[in-house]
Amino acid sequence: MGRIIATPTAGSCGIIPGVFVSTQERFGWTDDRMVEALFAAGAIGYVIANQSFISGAEGGCQAEVGSAVGMAAGALTELRGGTPEQAVHAVGLALKNSLGLICDPVGGLVEIPCIVRNGFGAVTALAAADMALAGVRSVIPSDEVIGVMKDIGAAMPEAHRETAKGGLAQTPTGKAILSDLRKKGGRS
Ligand code: SF4
Repeated sequence: MGRIIATPTAGSCGIIPGVFVSTQERFGWTDDRMVEALFAAGAIGYVIANQSFISGAEGGCQAEVGSAVGMAAGALTELRGGTPEQAVHAVGLALKNSLGLICDPVGGLVEIPCIVRNGFGAVTALAAADMALAGVRSVIPSDEVIGVMKDIGAAMPEAHRETAKGGLAQTPTGKAILSDLRKKGGRS
């Protein structure tokens, strides 16, 4: 409809389009079918947002990229003919693989490591959907995985929740990039 919607957040907005565009090209699904799948992804995101977090500032990158991976994995499973139960297992499988991931953008800018995490996130979603469709189940139910993500996020130190005070942002190279940007006047 001519609108760009970053979902579930701007930092993780490459995962669902990466999965949707590539699989639509591969399988030839209609746009209407993709719209239905977006509703499925949105419903999954709604559950996660209500039970846990979807932003890195609240729960670390597990909440942001992890949620997007779960949304994409569940929706793709449905698109490929999986049952609702398989779609939910795909969410759990995908989200488990993101648990504990901290939010540590260099300079506080949503670029490093965010861009590559989106790429890897899309790959994880594709793999999780494949697993669910092959009959692999999330032994820990998806609702419980979402609950654990909340617990981990709540226990995560502030330095690892989008403040750029820890993780990759505080490596020598991360600090040098920020210093360089400041010199160029890109960031005060
Ligand atoms: S590192 Fe932080 S800002 Fe970057 S994608 Fe992850 S949650 Fe978003």
